[in-house]
Amino acid sequence: MNSSATARLTTRHLAAAPGAPRLLADWYATGRPAALADHLGRHGPPPVAAAVGGRGSMPLVEAVEAAGLSGRGGAGFPTARKLRAVAERRGRAVVVVNAMESEPASRKDQFLLHVAPHLVLDGAVLAAAAVGADTVHVCLPRDRSAQYRRLSAALDERRRARVDRVRLRLHALPHAYVSSESTSLVRWLNGGPARPQGSPPRTHERGVGRRPTLVNNAETLAHLALIARHGPDWFRREGTPDEPGTTLVTVSGAVAAPGVLEVALGTPLATVLDHAQGPAQPLRALLLGGFAGTWLPAAHQDTPLTRRDLAPLGAAPGAGVLIAVAGPVCGLTETARMLAYLAAHSARQCGPCHLGLPAVADDFAALAAGRADPGLLSRLRRRTGLLADRGACRHPDGAARLVASALHTFPDDVGHHLTRGACPAAHQPPRIPVPPATPPERWR
Ligand code: SF4
Repeated sequence: MNSSATARLTTRHLAAAPGAPRLLADWYATGRPAALADHLGRHGPPPVAAAVGGRGSMPLVEAVEAAGLSGRGGAGFPTARKLRAVAERRGRAVVVVNAMESEPASRKDQFLLHVAPHLVLDGAVLAAAAVGADTVHVCLPRDRSAQYRRLSAALDERRRARVDRVRLRLHALPHAYVSSESTSLVRWLNGGPARPQGSPPRTHERGVGRRPTLVNNAETLAHLALIARHGPDWFRREGTPDEPGTTLVTVSGAVAAPGVLEVALGTPLATVLDHAQGPAQPLRALLLGGFAGTWLPAAHQDTPLTRRDLAPLGAAPGAGVLIAVAGPVCGLTETARMLAYLAAHSARQCGPCHLGLPAVADDFAALAAGRADPGLLSRLRRRTGLLADRGACRHPDGAARLVASALHTFPDDVGHHLTRGACPAAHQPPRIPVPPATPPERWR
C-alpha cells in the first residue's frame, strides 16, 4: 500500500470506525495534519510537571499502569513495566522513539507521525520526564526522506516555541526488517550497525551511551501523551477490561478503502474490514500481523482484536496489520514471496537466521512452485520447528509463525501443490505487495 492509499482515508470512512477516535481525532475533525499551534490549541503543552507526580497528580508511571497501556509496536509488553525498569536505574536516562516501522505491510506509525507528530513527541517528552531522561532520540528509516523532512520541521517548531526542556534529536537509520528491533536502534545510536544485539546488558540497564534507555514505539508514546492528560479511567473507556484503549490498524488487500484505522481493542476483525469497505469477494483468509504474522482462515473473521482472543489461534494483534485475501489466490505463493523477503532481511548473525531461514524459504518456494520432492513437507515442518526461540531476536520466530500458519490455513493448496503441481491461482499476479528480496546494502 503506498502513501496515496493511506491518504484515501476520509472522514466519511473514519467517522464510522468503531470506538471513539483518539490519536486520530484531530485528523478526523480537520482532515489535515496538526501543526504545533493546532496541537497546543487543542491539547495544551505536555503536562511535564505532573508526569513526575506531586501536588495531587498521579505520577505518569502509575497512571500508565492503571490505564493498562501495552506497547503497540508488536510485542505488546506492558508500557508501565518498561518505564519503571528505566526509572529505577541510577543515572540520567535516554528515551528512544522507535518509528522504524519496518514491517512492509504497516503504515500506521508513518501515518500517525504525519497527521499528529506532536502527540508522539509529547509522549516522548513526558516519558523522558517520568524516567529522568534529558535526551530523546527519534529514529526513522533512511529511505523515508519526506517523513524525515516533516518531522524535522515539527522539531523546529517545538524548538522555536520552547516547548521542551529535553533535547530532541532526529536520526535516519538503514532500513532493514530487523533494524526496528530495540537493540538495533541502541547499537546504531552507539555508533555500531543497526542489527539486533542478543547479549546483555539489556537496554534498560545500559543502552545509549551506556545509560538506562527506554525504547518505545511511536504509537505507544502518543497513547501515553493522552493518558497523561486525561487519566487512566478515560483511557479505559474504550477496549476491553483486559486490553483497554484503541489501536491503529493498517488494513490492506481485498478492501475498497485500504488505509489506517483507529479501532477499539476487542473490535471483531470482520468489523475492521467492514470499515475499510471490504472484502468485495468471499474472504479466503486473513493475514494478521504482517509478514511475520499469522494466517487465519476466513472462519475466524469474527474473532475480537485482542491478544487474549487471538492467542488460541496462534495469532496476536502485533503491530496492527490486517490483510484480507479474497477470491482465487494461492496462499502458498503469497507466503513464499514474503518468506524470501524475511530470509533476505535477516542479520545472519545467528544459526536459525543464517542457515535455517534460507533453507525454509527455499523449501517453501519449491512447494509454491509445485516442485515438491517426496520428503519436502516433513523436512519443511522439521526445519520450521527449529527456527523458533533460537535467535538473538524474534525474527526467525516470526518467519516460523508465517510458515506454520500457511500450512494450516491453506491445506487444499498444499495438497494440490504436492500432488498436481502449482494450482492455477499460483500464476495470478501477487496480491500482497512484497519489496525486493535483496539484503540491506548497509547496516550503518
Ligand atoms: S535471530 Fe536473525 S535477525 Fe535476529 S539477531 Fe540473530 S541473525 Fe539477527
